[in-house]
Amino acid sequence: MNDIKNRLQTIQDEIRSAAGAAGRNPDEVLLVSVSKRKSAALVKEAVDAGVTILGENYIQEAIDKIETLGEIPAAWHFIGHLQSNKARFAVKHFDLIHTVDSLKLAREINKQAKKIGKVQKILIQINISEEASKSGTGADEALALAKEISPFENVSVRGLMGMPPFFDAPEKARPFFKAMAEIKSAIEGENIPNISMEHLSMGMSGDFRVAIEEGATMVRIGTAIFGERD
Ligand SMILES: *Cc1c(COP(=O)(O)O)cnc(C)c1O
Repeated sequence: MNDIKNRLQTIQDEIRSAAGAAGRNPDEVLLVSVSKRKSAALVKEAVDAGVTILGENYIQEAIDKIETLGEIPAAWHFIGHLQSNKARFAVKHFDLIHTVDSLKLAREINKQAKKIGKVQKILIQINISEEASKSGTGADEALALAKEISPFENVSVRGLMGMPPFFDAPEKARPFFKAMAEIKSAIEGENIPNISMEHLSMGMSGDFRVAIEEGATMVRIGTAIFGERD
């Protein structure tokens, strides 16, 4: 218990200090605690210690935990790669889906959300590293995708998500975070109906301070809170 509680406290302090040092309001940076491959019991500990947003990558694993834990005072965010044929489950269980990277997926989310009378909040995932192996829409395609999603009545775009390549030094990720912020501003400037750019989901255990300096409003942190994954 104390481990998670202490680590969470440390991370919350670091988030606040990074935001403060960057001249930002610390309250506008949300912590998504990434609990992938961690047990429901550990998730419960984290929630008892004050975690309010949980990030999960795998649908079935997440559903198992959500059903085990029942009502908890925390929201679930989906941050893994989402296949269209799993969209139904994501819509049922998650407040925010960070990883929408195609029109096909957005359309399926819209359809499934409509069935249950929900407006599903999503982020558009950008393949900011431009690595072929990574998910995400190309930086140049993001605006077009936002415009195509705009008419969907049961989807609400709230911003962008991105992941720089893995670096040993967080400073190397900075240009990628800057590029994310530029795409956000460009889309914002178009004033597209139903498209909000309030959120930038970027930064993980190794580089969240730099991400906050560059405008992150959601940092997704796993290892630094829950410890190494098996
Ligand atoms: C696993 C994961 C994280 C958390 O990574 P850590 O380095 O453990 O903080 C954040 N975002 C995504 C998309 C992930 O898959």
